[in-house]
Amino acid sequence: MTKLLVLGGRFAGLTAAYTAKRLLGDKIDVTLINNTPYAAFRPGMPHVSIGVFKAEDLEVDLATALPAKGIKFILGTATKIDAKKNKVEYELPDGKKETMTYDYLVVGFGAKLGTEHLKGWNEYGASACEPDFATALHERLEKFNGGNIAIGSGVFYQGTLTPRGKYPKNWASPAESACEGPVFELSLMIPAYLKKRGIMDKTHITIFSPGEEVLTDISKESRGVIKTMYSQAGFDMVWKFNLAEIKKDEIVSEDGKTIKADIAVVLPPYEKNDAVKDSTPDLFDDGGFIPTDEHMRSIKYDNIYSCGDSNQFTVPKLGFLAVQTSRIAMQDLANRLGVPTKVDQYTPEVVCIADNPLEGFAIAVDDTTFYGGDKKVAQPAPTNHIKKLLFTKYFMWTNGDMALDKYLASW
Ligand SMILES: Cc1cc2nc3c(=O)[nH]c(=O)nc-3n(C[C@H](O)[C@H](O)[C@H](O)COP(=O)(O)OP(=O)(O)OC[C@H]3O[C@@H](n4cnc5c(N)ncnc54)[C@H](O)[C@@H]3O)c2cc1C
Repeated sequence: MTKLLVLGGRFAGLTAAYTAKRLLGDKIDVTLINNTPYAAFRPGMPHVSIGVFKAEDLEVDLATALPAKGIKFILGTATKIDAKKNKVEYELPDGKKETMTYDYLVVGFGAKLGTEHLKGWNEYGASACEPDFATALHERLEKFNGGNIAIGSGVFYQGTLTPRGKYPKNWASPAESACEGPVFELSLMIPAYLKKRGIMDKTHITIFSPGEEVLTDISKESRGVIKTMYSQAGFDMVWKFNLAEIKKDEIVSEDGKTIKADIAVVLPPYEKNDAVKDSTPDLFDDGGFIPTDEHMRSIKYDNIYSCGDSNQFTVPKLGFLAVQTSRIAMQDLANRLGVPTKVDQYTPEVVCIADNPLEGFAIAVDDTTFYGGDKKVAQPAPTNHIKKLLFTKYFMWTNGDMALDKYLASW
């Protein structure tokens, strides 16, 4: 039987594994390796940071969910892809090293949060990007009694997109930040949380970005509305701030600028996954992301697909794009294995919902200007909050099987 190995078990890896099984059934033997026993629903981590959910409410138990769909699960960390010999080395939790061969590989292990690029991170850093970070941020916010908070993102170590994959030119371009949606969402949520606690009038907020301004991946018009909203709320805004150090009460940029911050809430720098450094070098571009064609096949190794954040052209790094890329990759695989299947066209769009649950509304963004299109939706509405809640419940209910997401996203 054809062996498919999937690395990573969140939006990209789960969509690939479930879609492969759905399309190919007994024709395919699917194994998924993930380095945590659960898949954490990342879009809900900001909610954990303000106490709306607990991290454990948003974790899918992979050892139960995957075998129930006929998919084998291994808890382990992929350390090396040998693309020439069709094998992957991985390490088990007890430190034992193992090797697995494959006929087809899906790389869905995302990017790495490069916190080690930030001096002082371990002592003073805060984030809502993973369950443990979000839980720790909630504890800090609970104890906070007023002062300075900075919210922003670290640098995106993206490389120069060289060599470039085989796909339309507009699909990918350099970006200063990998994904500023969570920054925007936290800039709504944290003030609402502090208002609820009655300490917002004792708090000063600064929004910072390594970009020309915040959210450079959406239209100038939508950014303008957001900046007006920030000025009306009395927030400071600091752009072109490449975060280098976090201290007890301030953050420092690479060029020595400072922002006062008793809590610095940071989207850490994004960079290549740790497994890249020991893997076959020409599988990757100069930033450690994988150049592919339009069906997510590596331009060098035809039996390797790269989906989600690990792919060169998913910019910005979005779950919405991760799900699309995996679905297309597995439709492509189904055809290769003799099951005629319509292959969707990849349509890059910045789609996300910045939720503000404590004030009962969310801003739904659907923007294509980053890709040369003219869609510029940024719509605040109570129904968008319900949409985000339903998206969360849908993910948990299906154990991360996003089969219907294209219908959810187009509501
Ligand atoms: C706080 C936050 C909120 C967000 N909200 C939204 C949103 O509302 N909408 C949206 O579209 N996008 C959102 N995003 C972006 C979205 O979460 C990512 O784009 C998406 O998770 C990418 O999916 P992925 O599966 O490619 O990678 P990842 O989510 O990074 O998943 C990779 C998986 O592989 C595992 N892994 C990593 N390395 C290894 C290894 N070497 N071996 C084995 N396993 C490994 C990881 O533990 C993880 O389970 C958000 C991001 C953040 C940080």
